[in-house]
Amino acid sequence: MAEKSAEVIKKLMSLGVMATINQAIDADTAQIIVEEMGHKWKRVADSDVEDILKNSDDSSPEKQLPRAPVVTVMGHVDHGKTSLLDALRETNVVAKEAGGITQHIGAYQIEVDGNKKITFIDTPGHEAFSEMRARGAKVTDIVVLVVAANDGIMPQTIEAIRHAQAAEVPIVVAINKIDLPGADPMKVKTELLQHGIAVEEMGGECLCAEVSAKKRINIEKLLEAILLQAEILDLRANPNCKATGTVIEAKMEKGRGSVATLLVQQGTLQIGDIIIAGKEWGHVRAMFNEHGQKIQSATPATPVEVLGLQGTPAAGDNFNVVESESQAKEITNYRIQKERDAKLVKSAKSAMEQMLDKIKSGEIKHLPIVIKADVQGSIEAIEGTLNKLSTDEVSVQILHSAVGPISESDVTLAKASHAFIIGFNVRAIPQARDMARRDGIDIRYYSIIYDVADDVKKGLEGMLSPELKEKIIGYAEIRNVFNITGVGKVAGCMVTEGLVKRGAKVRLLRDNVVIHDGNLGQLKRFKDDVKEVKDGYECGMSFENYNDIQVGDFIECYEIETIAAKL
Ligand code: GDP
Ligand code: MG
Repeated sequence: MAEKSAEVIKKLMSLGVMATINQAIDADTAQIIVEEMGHKWKRVADSDVEDILKNSDDSSPEKQLPRAPVVTVMGHVDHGKTSLLDALRETNVVAKEAGGITQHIGAYQIEVDGNKKITFIDTPGHEAFSEMRARGAKVTDIVVLVVAANDGIMPQTIEAIRHAQAAEVPIVVAINKIDLPGADPMKVKTELLQHGIAVEEMGGECLCAEVSAKKRINIEKLLEAILLQAEILDLRANPNCKATGTVIEAKMEKGRGSVATLLVQQGTLQIGDIIIAGKEWGHVRAMFNEHGQKIQSATPATPVEVLGLQGTPAAGDNFNVVESESQAKEITNYRIQKERDAKLVKSAKSAMEQMLDKIKSGEIKHLPIVIKADVQGSIEAIEGTLNKLSTDEVSVQILHSAVGPISESDVTLAKASHAFIIGFNVRAIPQARDMARRDGIDIRYYSIIYDVADDVKKGLEGMLSPELKEKIIGYAEIRNVFNITGVGKVAGCMVTEGLVKRGAKVRLLRDNVVIHDGNLGQLKRFKDDVKEVKDGYECGMSFENYNDIQVGDFIECYEIETIAAKL
């Protein structure tokens, strides 16, 4: 305001606010002071520094030109994803002339029929796919689902389908290994029907090609199917504006510094541009294509390797071209600060809680859920119960359901769709548990269908409380089993997490599946009865009225919380 601080403080005092020169005052008070002193005010937020990025998006329809599709290959392990990506790479005539694709840059583009281009993301698998989606990046236009004709639909095939469907990305099916004697493409097509995929032959609209990645059979047919699907999608982008896009991967290399593979999605990226990518910024010093050739510019759907960023952004981060270094610094500083603040604010709401808020306010109409259970029968019963809970306003959206422990794939899927995970008589594998904890994904364990229904009902009303009725206090691994006359079987255990406690409830887990739920009989250290045993110590445990224990089983110790009635 160009006013003396003493004057401002005096004004504040006249309003009854005692503030020193270094003190922060609230926005409303500041607004009154500005007005009182005869100035005009305009409220700004820290996040305003990012506004410039939104405005630079020059995407009016008449400026949009056709662009190449971006494709991710997914499917069960060993069904031929890597082989297919290799086969596709080789069909690239242009690449052959340039001596093949020599560099691995995380993505590559091929040219079909001399003018049509297709971009492939080079990291197959649905986890990378959903991980990017969870970071807000929409990169993939088409998913190629590889299914081996001799093996058929497998668990990861189903996972891949669910990930693609949750992202609303169309699927082109590649039935692979048709060169093998046991190949049965028809069986694959029939099985696909059960998972919501109807190929043309089955009266559906999903495009399909029968290929052999190894023998290079029908690769062109697959390319045709991809191009046809791309045509249906009518993919467009504006090449004549400042470039924006997504980081595919980034690393530090000796002698080269930060090396980032970027996928340009709008505009044209030029040498010398100042870019920000996530929390990093820099000048585009050099750009290379997948053949390791230097290029000057990159248009939409082109992957490029870029040198010049000051650090390594994360895969899935957005990148933008900005006007000046000062702008780049301002925005990246803001993002660094924001992340720091977010870490400090412990009460920050989880993705799931934000989602529930949106349901409550009517902004969202689906409650997405991932279900894992011990047996198929449980899944059917849970699905049946949950589907009945949907109301006109909000419906239950089951993204994925399967038998088995909760895996990392389930967590990434839940993360990308802000879903919560139901473990019915199953537990998360340790990696999935760590990931869920890190990313704030809500995993809830149940053993009674009624309780699942109860919580989901609350979820649909946006009223699901973050408090769990049940609190897991620790885990112990069974290292030895002793047969003691008169007592029965006693487990020689190592407490691996938290603690175990006398009087607590216990479950027996075998391969992350609950096989018994009951009470603890004895808890001993050496010969003595003890009250509790902590993480890192050995102990002897036995169950009340239960004897089927084995080495390698885990004992989960939990308490039912009695939440005091509030007045
Ligand atoms: P990924 O795990 O899905 O990436 O599968 P890979 O591409 O690594 O392939 C797994 C195995 O299947 C390898 O031994 C490949 O040689 C083989 N394979 C891949 N495609 C074909 C094919 O079309 N025919 C035959 N016979 N084998 C194939
Ligand atoms: Mg592979």
